[in-house]
Order: sequence, then structure tokens, then C-alpha cells
Amino acid sequence: MKFLSIKEAMDKGSGEVNLRGWVHRERGSNKLKFIQLRDSTNIIQCIIEKSVVGDKKFDIADKLQVETSITIKGKINKDDRAPTGFEIHVSDFEVVGESNEFPITKDQSIEFLADNRHLWLRSRKMTAIMKIRSTIFGAIDEYFRKEGFHEYHSPIFQSVQCEGGSTLFTVDYFGKKDVFLAQTWQLYAEPAIFALEKIYTIAPSFRAEKSKTSRHLTEYWHAEMEVAWAKFDEIIDHGEGLIKHMVKKVLENNKEELKTLNRDIKKLEPTVKKKFPRMTYDEAVKLLKEKCKMKVEWGKDLRTIEEDKLSDLYDIPIAVTRYPKKVKAFYMKEPEDSDPKKPVVNGVDFIAPEHYGEIIGGSERESDIKKIQKRLEEDGEDPKEYEFYMDTRRYGSVPHGGFGLGVERIIAWVCGLDNIKDAIPFPRTMIRYKP
Ligand code: ATP
Ligand code: MG
Repeated sequence: MKFLSIKEAMDKGSGEVNLRGWVHRERGSNKLKFIQLRDSTNIIQCIIEKSVVGDKKFDIADKLQVETSITIKGKINKDDRAPTGFEIHVSDFEVVGESNEFPITKDQSIEFLADNRHLWLRSRKMTAIMKIRSTIFGAIDEYFRKEGFHEYHSPIFQSVQCEGGSTLFTVDYFGKKDVFLAQTWQLYAEPAIFALEKIYTIAPSFRAEKSKTSRHLTEYWHAEMEVAWAKFDEIIDHGEGLIKHMVKKVLENNKEELKTLNRDIKKLEPTVKKKFPRMTYDEAVKLLKEKCKMKVEWGKDLRTIEEDKLSDLYDIPIAVTRYPKKVKAFYMKEPEDSDPKKPVVNGVDFIAPEHYGEIIGGSERESDIKKIQKRLEEDGEDPKEYEFYMDTRRYGSVPHGGFGLGVERIIAWVCGLDNIKDAIPFPRTMIRYKP
């Protein structure tokens, strides 16, 4: 017996079909039973009649619980009154796996759904998000491969920090305490550009984020790239190209899912069509002052509130460059025209529209070993631990740079989610690490 997916059966539109899936909803009378059958592709209404299946089978149908898995044989036909436009007149069915009373019913608290995340994944909402997530991961691979990048992998257990000690997860590594979970691949990626020149990865990063925000996870998926010989503008071009490609792919492949999530696609279309504004930190500070009546003292990092105000001025992501040196990481390059009194670095943050915050952080990398060492010392790090990294500047160094993109931040924005937690199947935060 060949099974069709619900989508394939709807495409066929008429005749006999065999389907398999789960009971999404059920209701009935003593002669008729209506079942909404769900599979990964769609939902379809199935009608079981006592006069067709007989008393014994009807009795089983009558007792079917939500989430029971079943196979169904029947005739499909178009019916505009059915919730998804088609219905099936069942000639026979079999129960595959019975279901206990399903704990998730309507109107449950966020906490309850989080405790039952393993079951909540089956919801229409989570199914739609996970499909969009899959499109986005595929689009990242597609973008980088089409641009001639090699996929490269860095270790998750690392012996140096890269994005600041305050968000490092220390691991008990056979009693040793100087082992950390990766915050980024970067220090282990730069050595590989001397072999592969253009590299990317999609891997988990870990940050011990102690604040509760709607944008931070402790474990998130990080799409990162590093390019040899690259000028700063090229790195920014790739950031823009990648974001456009991801959004374009979702608009092409996930119209149904965006509809399920009530996401207005008009909010996403400009990202594919328009060029992203690029501005320096100084210009951003000026805009904040003139258009948002917000005063930012030169040298302070842009906080969430400032990023949100800036993003209100646009319907597409923006790229902010040339941040004050002291608010950015030790490896970012100070450009030649940087003012010694107000030093800046060639770092770039992409800020998403609609208050979704920073989606990409990137930079051109500093080539001057002395400057790197000095910054590490200022950060309280021991430069000796970074000797392997300094070798990237000692043996045929070339201009290079790269960026990291938070995949769940993109998913949250594209899907229009209230919280980043729904962008990943099992979110990890300071207070949530189960199930
Ligand atoms: P933020 O200021 O928002 O904490 P960051 O400056 O710490 O971000 P980077 O170190 O530049 O971020 O990391 C690169 C990208 O990874 C960010 O642009 C963001 O998209 C994503 N990211 C960073 N931290 C998190 C997190 N805790 N959860 C999810 N995504 C994150
Ligand atoms: Mg951070």
C-alpha cells in the first residue's frame, strides 16, 4: 500500500488515497465522526460513517483520542466547507499508536507549554516555525557555497575566550578548569583561511547570558564566515547578501507557514528589494539625536533602546560601522584614518527592523600583533594563551575579516515572534534547560 502525504493527496484532488498521520481534532455524533488528520504537510478533514465502516470500527473511531496515530483509506474530494478545502470519505482506517489524553489543550500558560515542549513541537505554530528554520539553514549553506566558500568546523571545547569573559561557560574538563564552550568559532577559523581562503560554518555557540531578554539564548546557532584578502566593504556586502538570500528563500518556500504565523509578508519584502542603509557610528549617533531626540555620549555602545529607535526609522536592516574601539572586541581593526583621540574600529553590526536587534556582528581583523596584545592585556587576558592565534599574523598575514549571524535572531524576525525562545525547538536560557 502506498501512502501519500496530505499535500500530495490534495494535489491529486480526487480518487482513492491512503494517508497516515495523527488525530489533530475530533468531534462526532452517533452516526458520523469528523477527524482532522494532521501530518507534516497539512491537515485534512476525514469523515467516518457508521454505515460505511460498520458498528465495530465505528466504535473504535468514536473513542479516538487526539494525537492517536492512524492510517486511513478513503476517497478525497474538494469541499469548500471543509477547513482546509478538502475532505476524505473514509472507507477503512487502522489505529497505529493509541494516545493517552493529550495534556496540551487550548489556552495554556507559557510555562506549561515550555515544560511540555516535546509535545508542543507538534503544534501548528511550532511546525510552521521549524519549517521556516529549515529553509533558513538551507539558504545559509546555499548562499555561501554559491559564493565559493568552504564549510569548515572549529572546536566547541576551547581554551581561549573571544567575546568577553562575562559570558563564558566553563567546563569541568577532567578536573581542568580552563576549558570553555565556544562563544564563536573565530579564533579557530582565522588559522584556516590560510588554507581555504573563504570559509563558513553553522554551529552552536554558547553564551552565559545572565540577563533575561527576548533576544538572548545561552545556546544558539551561529552562522559564521571568514574571508582572506577581504576589504571591509566586501564583508558588509556578504552580510547584506546573506540576509537577502535567507528572506528571499522563506518568501519563496514558506508562504503557508508565514500565513499560519500571521506574519505580514509586506514587512519582509523590502529586505529583498532595497539596498540596506550603511552608516557610521557617528552618523547613527547624529540620527538618534536629530530624529529620535536621544543623546548618546560618544564612546558608549549602542544599547537595545538605541538600536530599536534607529530601526524604527527603516523597514529594512541597517549596517552600522566604525564603532568606538573600546566597546568592541580586541581583534577588530583600527583603520588608518582612525583619530587617535577618538579611535574607532572597522566593526559592523547589522540591526534588524521591528525591534529584532543585532542580527550580525562582524569586522575586519586587526593585523598589528602589538595592538592585539595590548588590547588583550587591557581586557585582563594573558596574551601567552593566544600565541597560536598570533601565528596567524606571523606567517604570511593577509587582510581578512568575517562576521557571525545569530540564526535564531533571524528566525524570530522573519517569523515575527515575540521571543527568541520559539525560534529553536528546545530553548536554553539561564532558567530553562529542561526538558
Ligand atoms: P548582543 O549585543 O545582542 O548580545 P553580541 O554583540 O554579544 O550581541 P556577537 O558577539 O557579535 O553578539 O555575536 C554575533 C551574533 O550572534 C549577534 O549579532 C547575534 O545575532 C547573535 N547572538 C549573540 N549573542 C546571542 C545570544 N545570546 N542568543 C542568540 N543570538 C546571539
Ligand atoms: Mg552579547
